[in-house]
Amino acid sequence: MQKEITIVGAGLVGSLCALYMTKRGHKVSIFERRKDLRSETITAGKSINLALSERGWTAFKKVGIDTEVKNIAIPMYKRIMHDEKGNLSDQAYGNKGQAIYSVSRAALNVLMMEMAEKNGAKLYFDEKCVDANLEQAIATFKNTKTTTEQSISADLLIGADGSLSAVREQMVKKHQHEYEYNEIAHDYKELLIPAGKNGTHLLDKNALHIWPRGEFMLIALANLDGSFTCTLFAPKKGKNSFEGLNSQQEVKKYFKTIFPDFIALVPNLYEQWNTNPTSALGVVRTYPWHINDTALLIGDAAHATVPFYGQGMNAGFEDCRILDELLDEFGNNLKGCFKKYSKQRKPNADGLQDLSMQNFVVMRDGTADPKFLLQKKIEKKFANLYPEKWTPLYTMVSFTNTPYADAWKIGMKQEKMMQSIMSAPNIEEIWESDEIMQKMCSLV
Ligand SMILES: Cc1cc2nc3c(=O)[nH]c(=O)nc-3n(C[C@H](O)[C@H](O)[C@H](O)COP(=O)(O)OP(=O)(O)OC[C@H]3O[C@@H](n4cnc5c(N)ncnc54)[C@H](O)[C@@H]3O)c2cc1C
Repeated sequence: MQKEITIVGAGLVGSLCALYMTKRGHKVSIFERRKDLRSETITAGKSINLALSERGWTAFKKVGIDTEVKNIAIPMYKRIMHDEKGNLSDQAYGNKGQAIYSVSRAALNVLMMEMAEKNGAKLYFDEKCVDANLEQAIATFKNTKTTTEQSISADLLIGADGSLSAVREQMVKKHQHEYEYNEIAHDYKELLIPAGKNGTHLLDKNALHIWPRGEFMLIALANLDGSFTCTLFAPKKGKNSFEGLNSQQEVKKYFKTIFPDFIALVPNLYEQWNTNPTSALGVVRTYPWHINDTALLIGDAAHATVPFYGQGMNAGFEDCRILDELLDEFGNNLKGCFKKYSKQRKPNADGLQDLSMQNFVVMRDGTADPKFLLQKKIEKKFANLYPEKWTPLYTMVSFTNTPYADAWKIGMKQEKMMQSIMSAPNIEEIWESDEIMQKMCSLV
């Protein structure tokens, strides 16, 4: 039966959700607080590009836009680590041909908005959700230009309005849903490595670049125009933190001593440092994600996480795909459908949040640790010999649709096992031996 659906937020997840819902034959209206992205110059600040992986592709394939997205995506087959002297080493993400993809947030968002619109969705901009009656699927929007307010009534209200969700706020305030926000001790700032002559990339574009430095790190992902968007993740306070980086001399010294090959590529570093904001990172946990058959949360509104597994957006796209599957399963029983959606997705969101926090340590510390890199080599060899016995954690998260909660549980078990393998005194010499492979067989 055709429903009228209001979606709050035309970000990545709201736009994809709109496309899914129009394809199901529903009448969809999206209300977005900001102005139309298609008429706006994007400013630096909120991750200009993102890593897209299997869960994203699965959601795109189901709704038929994977080919269009491929055209704007750059494959990254490996991590390239930059040490303090500027020496490089690398680590493949998966087996030959397996890649995660760098994609522009704005280009992807525009593509999905256009596809949703083409399929009949109506988009309204400069409309900020300021209130909602979730039991009646009524949302109130204030136009940010004219300040006039209007209330929109529908059959279903979907909150795709990100980590500061106004729809979620109403669930918490009026319906006492559980809610928790935990900010982490690290902030981030984006910087740009410009394109070289004739739009060439100054670093290998088919890799995700990491400058791992223990408590903090810098990463870089390629853009189609030859530039790289880089993000510095550093503590708010204390040693090597943002706190001590104020003057031009302080910033220059920090980068010159800690990231020497990076600073060589960014002539206007201090200008960028001053212009681009420093932003906080945090984890949103809430439950349930719905009210009856009239309101629902999706994407960051339900489960914002820290970006260290490159999965926040992918998880939001997975929400869209799973919701679509559940709508098939439950037919007209929307109440049952949304209840199952909340119940099924919540542990997976929790699993992803745990995975994301853990991967921060892997990225900033592990990728510079020879023992960690050796452990990953052993796991890879074993996985290639016995694929039915072992899938490496990174593969499970980025190259399969294994539920995040399962991946987290399996990953913890694997880690425990690997500690026993890595404790062999001469593991560096015998890691490829039959003895080690047999020991792994006996442990799984
Ligand atoms: C530094 C950083 C790097 C990241 N890297 C990755 C990555 O590599 N891979 C990955 O998968 N994920 C990554 N993420 C996570 C990803 O950005 C988010 O998970 C994703 O943007 C969530 O999409 P969303 O549509 O749910 O929310 P958002 O992108 O936040 O979109 C919400 C939309 O709702 C609008 N809105 C908000 N409030 C209102 C209101 N009251 N009324 C109307 N409209 C409203 C907003 O303007 C926005 O357009 C990263 C995040 C950060 C911070």
